[in-house]
Amino acid sequence: MSFFPGASIPELPFEVPDDVPIHEFLFNEKYGRRPIKDSYPALTDGVTGQSYTADEVQEHIELLARSLSKRLGWRMEDSPVANLKPEYTLTPNSELLGEKVLCIYSYNTIDTLTVSWAAHRVNAVSSPANAAYSAGELAYQIKDSGSKALFTNAALLPVALDAAQRIGLPKDKIFLIDLPPGPWRDDKISAKGYRTVQDLIEEGRKLPALGPLRWKKGQGDLQVAFLCYSSGTSGLPKGVIIQHSSVITNVLQHATFDAPERKLLEKETGDGRLKALGVLPFSHIYGLVLLVHQSVYLGDEMVCLPKFDLTAFLKAISDHKLQLLYVVPPIIIVMTKNKKVCDKYDLSNVRTIWSGAAPLGLETAQDVARLWPKWIVRQGYGMTESGPCVTSTPFNDPMFGSSGCIIPAYQIRLVSEEGVDIKEYDQPGELVVKSKAVVLGYLNNPEANKETFQDGWLRTGDKALVRKSAKGNEHVWIVDRMKEMIKVNGLQVAPAELEAHLLTHPAVADVAVISVPDERAGEVPKAYVVKASSVGLEESDAMLIRSIKKHVEKEKTKHKWLRGGVEFIDVIPKSPSGKILRRFLRDKEKEKRRQA
Ligand code: AMP
Repeated sequence: MSFFPGASIPELPFEVPDDVPIHEFLFNEKYGRRPIKDSYPALTDGVTGQSYTADEVQEHIELLARSLSKRLGWRMEDSPVANLKPEYTLTPNSELLGEKVLCIYSYNTIDTLTVSWAAHRVNAVSSPANAAYSAGELAYQIKDSGSKALFTNAALLPVALDAAQRIGLPKDKIFLIDLPPGPWRDDKISAKGYRTVQDLIEEGRKLPALGPLRWKKGQGDLQVAFLCYSSGTSGLPKGVIIQHSSVITNVLQHATFDAPERKLLEKETGDGRLKALGVLPFSHIYGLVLLVHQSVYLGDEMVCLPKFDLTAFLKAISDHKLQLLYVVPPIIIVMTKNKKVCDKYDLSNVRTIWSGAAPLGLETAQDVARLWPKWIVRQGYGMTESGPCVTSTPFNDPMFGSSGCIIPAYQIRLVSEEGVDIKEYDQPGELVVKSKAVVLGYLNNPEANKETFQDGWLRTGDKALVRKSAKGNEHVWIVDRMKEMIKVNGLQVAPAELEAHLLTHPAVADVAVISVPDERAGEVPKAYVVKASSVGLEESDAMLIRSIKKHVEKEKTKHKWLRGGVEFIDVIPKSPSGKILRRFLRDKEKEKRRQA
């Protein structure tokens, strides 16, 4: 394998099917899925132990699709792209969605993804939102995505209703997804009068069956499956248009890459079927594609936990004898710092721990290897716009600190600041990638599309280099992030979003938000603020800082809070065109930390 242009790219075992929706690919033995009609659980509730087999999930998709179609008036036959040719020059705008979008604002459950697949069954789109969102953030996504219905949990109803009211979404378009007992539930909240997914499934039994969903060849390359939100290189969160063939491609790419390890594990488990933990938010591309879709495709059992809670997490690993853990670096750090707590649980079945969504430090990877010597530590790199996975660690060549090797049917380039392709090892440049897994673009945002998607290549905004391991594999090392995005606990924070909100504080004349390192969360946001001239002398800096931080805490979800602090500055450094020179502030921050 070589990253150099012109090198041959490892292939997939078969051509990516472009005439079927994701769920047909996942649940069809024709595409490599293990037996559908067996009793092996596909999705299990990590708390209650309730399970669905693949057959049951498929039945739920059909029934739910019938009632979605009736309640939302969505006809399966209506697809904005059914008659488009694949070579059609795309304008990634709302027309591609056909006004059939629903938003899922839910913790992880065994029913969450069924809602998305049922939407796909009627050629509609699912827009997953982070369950930690505030009402303002959720309202932004529902409005921007044009969602016509909202699926949420009873525990999240107060926020969901607040959001729905802000943008005029009627109450009868809000449906509930049941949560198991645990710290994520709030039984004091009344959910009377709302229909649940189970109600809709039961209703579906009484409705006429839908005809088969027939797609033309190439329709999967244009038909939209998900609208996830990412700030990309700069600016506010944007709708990322993810087509069906993007998800199918990435699942197939990673499953192909990982086939050698699965073969080995097959010997251990008898049939190669594994149990994986689904604790990362299914609203984020990593949880969505690599956890749920890949696990279902591989015929693994996905054990779902609503969200991360150390006790529930360890208990689920122990109770369900889990072998695969998909996590983010901050969860690994919590584990390494709480080894004694971990030792109270039986983690002996774990074989592999996958880290993604943010950099996994070399020392942290080494800590895991030292504390749990039987585990294989693996890392994946990608982004929402890349489908997501671009690189992944080979199981037999971890090379700690690297993000692994390019997965099959992905191409990468490294481009210098001068725009020249880098062809040597250990030379950093912007990582630019290409594959069928790359998404269609940002919703209604020609400027961001022009900047990010160029001649079939996706500019990642990450700085990387390629280094050869002792075993001769070419590993990709992510060495810096050139784009604005901040990653807190693996979740995105868009500086532009915080800056726009901070400017509404009366004491803030100008502001720039940057990322500062944090031992547990990886990074946290810090605001550099220019005080407004109206600020009186009687207002101390400490009072102002408290008030500015509160201003963010009132409106924004926790991972966006200014845990990196607030610092006053005379002027925000800007380029002649008015662009904030964040690099200058980041360097200033680095220097301060070096001296401390
Ligand atoms: P998202 O779209 O939320 O998945 O964020 C994508 C960004 O997260 C990437 O562009 C990187 O900046 C960062 N990221 C994801 N995985 C890794 C990794 N393994 N190492 C370093 N950064 C990563």
